Amino acid sequence: MDAVQEPLGLMAEETLDPQDWADVQALSHQIIDDAVDYLRDLRDRPVWREMPADVREVFAAPLPRSPAPLAAVYGEVSRTVMSYPMGNIHPRFWSWYMGSSNFTGALGDFLAAIQGSNLGGGNHAAGLMDSQVVNWCKEMLGFPASASGTLVSGGSMANLIGLTVARNTKAGIDVREHGVAAIEKPLRFYGSDQIHSCHRKAMEALGLGNKALRRIPTDAGLRIDIAALRAAIAEDRAAGFKPACIIGNAGTVNTGAIDDLRTLAKLAHEEDLWFHVDGCIGALVAIAPENAHRVAGIEWADSVALDPHKWLHAPFEVGCALVRDAIAHRRTFAVTPEYLESTPRGLASGEWLHDYGLQTSRGFRALKVWMALKEHGIDKFGRLIDQNIAQAFYLAGLIETEPDLELAAVPTINIVCFRYQPGLAGEALKVLNTEIMLRLQEQGIAALSDTTVHGEHWVRAAITNHRTRREDFDLLVRETVRLGREISAPAAAPS
Ligand SMILES: *Cc1c(COP(=O)(O)O)cnc(C)c1O
Repeated sequence: MDAVQEPLGLMAEETLDPQDWADVQALSHQIIDDAVDYLRDLRDRPVWREMPADVREVFAAPLPRSPAPLAAVYGEVSRTVMSYPMGNIHPRFWSWYMGSSNFTGALGDFLAAIQGSNLGGGNHAAGLMDSQVVNWCKEMLGFPASASGTLVSGGSMANLIGLTVARNTKAGIDVREHGVAAIEKPLRFYGSDQIHSCHRKAMEALGLGNKALRRIPTDAGLRIDIAALRAAIAEDRAAGFKPACIIGNAGTVNTGAIDDLRTLAKLAHEEDLWFHVDGCIGALVAIAPENAHRVAGIEWADSVALDPHKWLHAPFEVGCALVRDAIAHRRTFAVTPEYLESTPRGLASGEWLHDYGLQTSRGFRALKVWMALKEHGIDKFGRLIDQNIAQAFYLAGLIETEPDLELAAVPTINIVCFRYQPGLAGEALKVLNTEIMLRLQEQGIAALSDTTVHGEHWVRAAITNHRTRREDFDLLVRETVRLGREISAPAAAPS
């Protein structure tokens, strides 16, 4: 016995815990103080700035072998990572489409990491909270309590979950057992030509292929053309395909257009198709009193993808998939290997949350959402969504009264496409506006992105930001015009 125990006895056992807890406590207080200052003074810093070479070099450093004091590690993070952020929490960040985070959510992420729980399953408080946040998402969208859902990394994964249940339910065979090759009639999915690129990736990953997702033309407002959709379904049936699923947009990424969800739900019902809604942008409009009517019909969907890290401003990452038919959802993903069996009591007696998606281990994403919802209440989040939409109309109004600017279209919700227009066209206009967009970023003034709508290039402001004020748009318009004039002015003659 002694011989077995001796080697252990001789070795000092190691741990990742600090040697001096008081030390770490003091440093942690410093980190929190710095974090509070960081958010308080956010407005005074540039939205974004290019990193100098010496900062870039830090990220090329090799694997560290020897230890460093935590204070030094934090100092390096502070000088590099914290000093050169993407900028999406800044009041004048309107690129692509993302939320602007919040301090309470950050505390939630910290506490979730302190507890360090794995939410794949088990009987513990974090698992119950995860299910509660899913239930709250159902309530926000008017989904029945009997529906199921799961928190995932974001909207792309939430869409993949919904489309996977759609495929398995409509395939007509047991896809899990026999694979897509055994499907008799090739499945067809339908979405508008404005659909997000994650649906293409989902179709590819599901083994159905990109071509199985038919892009239906849109009307002048960039909503799916229902007559064209009907015709495509009929044409596919006649050609021996099996129409399986309609994907409706509650807010397209280019312009925020919202498909006629009620009509799509009815059409899907008549044609016996699955109705999935990509609500990554607009599903949460359902909680905004002034604008909720725009997404009426979302509650009739068979599945919905929504994104709390967008309009609920949860720190990345958290998305949510909801599925009306909980049994179909579970049937798509549940597996019970011998090492993950439930017990009647104890730790393994809780729900296996991994039965509703592809992940086994799952992070505690619910806490950051839960804490912010409890602190502010859902009504405030609804008002903030209305506020962003009102701001989009304010910006559109400024653009319309500025002779040098051109508005692509009156916004539907919170996305505004526009450009500086000194009387150019085509490529020259695109080059000029791209340059304006880049200078706005490089001078730290505002972050916009760009896109192509109806074949024309536009810069694009997506206002999903609880820190933005109206005055920020006054500045944006002023600076866009200033840069536009500066760039298009003939170069000063050499003296
Ligand atoms: C953002 C977005 C997605 C993808 O969601 P992620 O959270 O980025 O994975 C999908 N569809 C639409 C319409 C989106 O705006």
